[in-house]
Amino acid sequence: MSYLALTHLEKSFGTLRVVKDFNLTVEKGEFISLLGPSGCGKTTVLRMVAGFETPTTGTISIAGKEVTDLKPNQRNIGMVFQAYALFPNLTVAQNVGFGLKVKGTPRAQIAKRVEEMLALIGLPELGNRYPFQLSGGQQQRVALARALAPKPSVLLLDEPLSALDAKVRVSLRNEIRAIQRELGITTIFVTHDQEEALSMSDRVVVMHEGIADQVGTPFDIYNRPATRFVAGFVGTLN
Ligand code: ADP
Repeated sequence: MSYLALTHLEKSFGTLRVVKDFNLTVEKGEFISLLGPSGCGKTTVLRMVAGFETPTTGTISIAGKEVTDLKPNQRNIGMVFQAYALFPNLTVAQNVGFGLKVKGTPRAQIAKRVEEMLALIGLPELGNRYPFQLSGGQQQRVALARALAPKPSVLLLDEPLSALDAKVRVSLRNEIRAIQRELGITTIFVTHDQEEALSMSDRVVVMHEGIADQVGTPFDIYNRPATRFVAGFVGTLN
C-alpha cells in the first residue's frame, strides 16, 4: 500500500475551483514534485496535506490512516516555506528545537537532537547565531532542520529555494536531496521551476488549472509529455 494517498481531492474558494479531482499516491521515501505555473493550485494541495486547508471533497491518508479531518499538529508533518520563516527572536538552536519543545520533550533530548540536526545540515557551529546573522541559504537549511527535528512522517517543501540566488539554489537542490535520501523521508516539493523538479524528483506531477495533467518520472515527463500543456511547460514544444 502507498504511504501517502490523495483521493479525489477538490478545493473551491467560493465559486473558484482551485483543485479538481486530484489523485496521487506516494511511496515511502519517495521525493515527488508538484510542478506548474503560478496559480495552478500547487500550494493549495500542499496546504490540504498539511491540514491548513480543508478539502471541499476527497480524502488524505498517511501511513494507512485517514487524516482528512485532523488538525495540522495531529498529522506529524514537517514543512519548509519559501523563506524568512524562522523565528527572528530565537537562536538557530532554539528554532531547530522549537517543535520538540512544544511537544514537551525533555531539555537534554532536545539539545541532542538539535546537535544532530545541525550536523546533518552542515552547520554544527551556528547554534547560537540569530537568523539575521545567516545567509539565505543557511536560513533555509535551518528551516529544514527545524522541520525534520520532530521526525515527521512526511516533509512538505513549498518553493524553499525560490528566494535564493542561482548558485545557492543549485547547491541546495543537491543538499536537500541528499538529506532526504539519508533519512528516507517521504517528500512533496512544490515548485514552478521545471529544471528544479526534473533534476530533483523521483516523480513529477505537472499541474495545470487545478488538474494533474501528468504524473511520471522526470524522463517520462521530458521525453513523453502527455499533453500539449506539459510539452510546452517543460520546454520540449517550441
Ligand atoms: P500555486 O501554488 O500553484 O501558485 P495556489 O494554490 O497558491 O497556486 O493558488 C491557486 C488559486 O487559488 C489561485 O487562483 C489563488 O488565487 C487561489 N487561492 C488560493 N488560496 C486562496 C484563498 N484562501 N482564498 C481565495 N482564493 C485562493
